[in-house]
Amino acid sequence: MGVVRRKAVGKYPVVDGVQRIPDAAHPRGFREYCVTQKAWDRRREELAQRANNRCEGICKRWIPPVQGDGMHILSTGAGGDDALDNLLYGCRDCHRYAHQPKAVPRKS
Ligand SMILES: [Zn+2]
Repeated sequence: MGVVRRKAVGKYPVVDGVQRIPDAAHPRGFREYCVTQKAWDRRREELAQRANNRCEGICKRWIPPVQGDGMHILSTGAGGDDALDNLLYGCRDCHRYAHQPKAVPRKS
């Protein structure tokens, strides 16, 4: 875990480590990003609470709050942000699996 997740951009204000960027094209009207590790840790705690500490990925296992990841539904590269509605609480196995290119088994 690094110190800063993503640098704040432009003139948009940062409140409690979260930068909100207006985006008229987004259904919500804005995107928001955790720009400090502290803000991201807080977000993970909120996710853990929402999920009752169960992985919202594939396995649905109980995971200790310190081990849970925030998994982006729409990746940041694709315009997704760090808002709660774009995140799932996930264990490391499910998070790793989500980022791996998956070969599709074929019948021959
Ligand atoms: Zn899982």
